[in-house]
This record gives sequence, structure tokens and C-alpha cells, in this order.
Amino acid sequence: MTRFPPLSSETLAGLRHLLGETGVLTDSVSLGAYGVDETEEVDFRPAAVALPETTEQVAAVLQLAAQTGIPVTPRGGGTGLSGGALPVFGGLSLSLERLNRIRFLDQTNLMIEVEAGLITGDLKRAVEEKGLFYPPDPASHDSCQIGGNIAEDAAGPRSCKYGTTRNWVLGLEAVLPDGTVIRTGGATRKNVAGYNLTQLLVGSEGTLAVVTAALLKLINLPRFRLTLAAPFSTLQGAAQAVSRLFVAGVDPASCELMEARALDLVSSLTAIPEQLVDAAALLLLELDGDDDQALLERAARASEVFDTLEEVEVIVAQEAGDQRRLWEIREKIAIAVREYSVYKEADTVVPRSELANLVEKARQVASDRQLEAVCYGHAGDGNLHVNLLRGDLDEATWKENRDAAEAELFDWVAGVGGSVTGEHGIGWSQRRYLPLVAQPAAMKVMRGLKAAFDPRGILNPGKIFTDR
Ligand SMILES: Cc1cc2nc3c(=O)[nH]c(=O)nc-3n(C[C@H](O)[C@H](O)[C@H](O)COP(=O)(O)OP(=O)(O)OC[C@H]3O[C@@H](n4cnc5c(N)ncnc54)[C@H](O)[C@@H]3O)c2cc1C
Repeated sequence: MTRFPPLSSETLAGLRHLLGETGVLTDSVSLGAYGVDETEEVDFRPAAVALPETTEQVAAVLQLAAQTGIPVTPRGGGTGLSGGALPVFGGLSLSLERLNRIRFLDQTNLMIEVEAGLITGDLKRAVEEKGLFYPPDPASHDSCQIGGNIAEDAAGPRSCKYGTTRNWVLGLEAVLPDGTVIRTGGATRKNVAGYNLTQLLVGSEGTLAVVTAALLKLINLPRFRLTLAAPFSTLQGAAQAVSRLFVAGVDPASCELMEARALDLVSSLTAIPEQLVDAAALLLLELDGDDDQALLERAARASEVFDTLEEVEVIVAQEAGDQRRLWEIREKIAIAVREYSVYKEADTVVPRSELANLVEKARQVASDRQLEAVCYGHAGDGNLHVNLLRGDLDEATWKENRDAAEAELFDWVAGVGGSVTGEHGIGWSQRRYLPLVAQPAAMKVMRGLKAAFDPRGILNPGKIFTDR
């Protein structure tokens, strides 16, 4: 932990000169707040928090950091689940929260340029007022930022139909670790000029550059939505239904799975309709489009798919209020788990055909070690969040058993062609698992890219790789 110099009083004065007194925080409460994100059980305080308001100020902060060798950790809304925004080597937490403007909305070309610190939900609402749609919908949308979504290539229920954040990014404005401002991509739907730096920066977890603004694609808001809740009496049935839905062309916008224990836990926070209470597994689907009859036909096709597996009494919600109540079940599971027990979330992703085996494997690795596993998530993407619950275990046993269970689970996931994170990123907490899915030659290319962007290694050190 001694590879970086401490933040000197001269550097701090330099920062205050660049950002003003209110643009630099050093009080203990702020350092504590910027030293955590939503990742369980990790806490690393920065030496100071920098709050720039413009791209020029971000560039000036990075120039100062490059001159002094101070590490800089970019921070969005702090909702990350892999510790990516935690300043594990101290130094500066560089928060983008004050760069939160919409620069322009182009309704002719259906695109919008926003600053990185804009809250995702604010962007979604602003375009929806104009009848437009920005589909990426991480469940944290009311507190995460576009910059954080880009850094993590965030997804959400609707990535099942619309893809992840990267599918919506046309171009970026970003600041390199030496303070140089670059622009990548641009306002065209096609662009194959040179290496695709835009897509390289998407998902780079704040380790290559600090994103200050993004040019994003929009589409028209679908006119109709239907929500289907399908309670299955077996987990196998629900899991098999997922891949069959796609083969049958149901084309859901969202396809989420919750196993019985998840439903049980969330029932303390929201009402579960009687037909769903005893389900071994629940599938929650959203269908969207511009033709309401066609939606009902697709809903009927979904029911036919379910009936090939077992008799399922599907709830079809057409009214927005009814839909909201059903989606609340899914959205509140994370809070319910957190309130119930200390936990560790493994962000597994597998081919859809392996979903049932994944849940079985999660249960086995957990029960072998006196843990409980609760699985739910974006089944349409094969992406299930496996929550390993501590229960009554003492601290030392919990840590040992948790790590062993997670390692066995990820080994299995990699073996069936899956990956060790579907959407939460490698960050700090998943670093040891990256070599399971990235061969040594690929790791070498990744290290080379990091060195090309950040030769001094000052931008978000300690993330993605175990040795940096
Ligand atoms: C309740 C809850 C629900 C969630 N649901 C989902 C979900 O459905 N789908 C999903 O994908 N994720 C989900 N997440 C995880 C999290 O919200 C996402 O990873 C989100 O993209 C993080 O954004 P943030 O602004 O909070 O970033 P932070 O947590 O602040 O940072 C995340 C990473 O991005 C980097 N970063 C942040 N801003 C920038 C920038 N401007 N330039 C460069 N790097 C930057 C940081 O250094 C860090 O590595 C959820 C989290 C919670 C707590």
C-alpha cells in the first residue's frame, strides 16, 4: 500500500486553487461516505474528494495527479457492486456528480449528449417526456450515473431485448490519466475509422480514462407494454421455459427469474399476489411494442411455451399500476436480502440452457458450507445474481466458507462457458476470478492496454488485475 506518495499539503492547496474551497472535501464524514459503495463489507477512504464542475477541471485535476503521482479513482453514483469506485490506495476520489447537464437533445437524429454525472433515471425521464426511449435500465437508475453505467457497461432487465449500455453509446468525451481530453466516435450510426476507442472505454471500469460526456442513441418509446407473471411449480420448468421463449419468437423486453426463497424474503417488503406465493420459481416478463393486439398474441405464445412444460396460471397485467406492483417484487429482492443477512453476491452469467444447473450448483456449493444461496436476476441474459448468505456463521468461518463457495461456483460457471461477471464488473472484489475466463495471452493484451493509457498506473489502481 506504499507505492503512491501521500497527498501533500501543497497538492491539496493546488487542488483548492483549481476547484475552489467547495470543490475539495477532506472532512471525515465525506471521506467515509466516498470510501464505500454498495459492495458488501469493503471500505477504503480517499485522502480527499475532488468535485470538478467541467471537463477542463477534470483535466486539470488529472494533470496535477500525474505530476505528483497521486492515485485517482473516478466515482459516479457509488452504486457499484464490485468495489470499482473505492480508492483502495487512498489518493483522490474524483466524483463526477457536478457534471450533470444535458448538453443537447437532437430529435432529428435521435441522439442526446449528456455529461457523465447525470443520474440515469433523470436522463430516461427527460427523453420519455419527448416520447423517446433510452432503454438501459439498471435497477439502481435513480442513483447511478451515466458515466458509471458506461464504465461498467451496465445492463438491467431490458438488456434482454435492447442490449447493454454499450449498444447505446455513439461517442465519448474522456480525459486520459495525463489530463489530455479526447473525443471518440461521433454523431453517426456507422463509423469504422480506426480502432473503436468508444467501445474500448465502455466497460473499462474507470481504469483507462475518465468519461466526462457521452453521445447516446435514442429510439421511440414503445406505445404498449404487457407484464406477465408466470409461477412455476418446479425450478427446472421455469429455467427451461427461458430458452424456449426465445426460440418461439416471444421476444420479451425483459425476462427475470426469482426462485422461491427470493419470493419468500421479499414478501416482507411487498405484497405477493396469492397465485404466486407458492411458486418454486417465478418468471416475470415484459413485452413491448406499438401494436397492442400483437402483444397479446405474443403473450398467448408465451403461455403456450409454458404449457409445454407444465400447467402455468399466468397473470397478465395490462394496466401500469398492476405492472408496477409486479415489478416491485423483483426490484425489492436486493433490499430484502440485505435486510435479512450479510451476503456476498456472485454476478454469474451462463448460456440460457444452463440456468437450472446454475441454481442447483449454487445451492450445492452453499449447503456444503453451511451457507444459504438465493438466486434471482436477468434470466433472459443467462445472468443470475447468486447471493450467498452468512446466516449465523461467525466472521472467520463466513469469510472462509464464502470464498470457497464462490470459487467453486465460478470454476463451474467458467467450465460451462459462462463468465464471472455479467454486469457488475471485476472491480476490486472479483479480481482473482478474471483469469478463469481470460486466458494468459488475453490478460497480457489487457495489461498492455492499461499501460498504453496509463503508464504511471495512477488511474483507479488495484482494479481488474491482482498485481496493479
Ligand atoms: C440496488 C442496486 C441495483 C443494481 N442493479 C443493477 C442492474 O440492474 N444492472 C447493472 O448493470 N448494475 C446494477 N447495479 C450496479 C450498479 O448500479 C452499476 O454498476 C452502475 O453502473 C454503477 O454506476 P455508478 O454511477 O453508481 O458508478 P460507481 O459505483 O460510482 O462506479 C462504478 C465504476 O465506474 C467507474 N466510474 C464511475 N464514473 C466514471 C466516469 N465518469 N468515468 C470513468 N469511470 C467512472 C468507477 O471508477 C468504478 O470503477 C445495481 C446496484 C444496486 C445497488
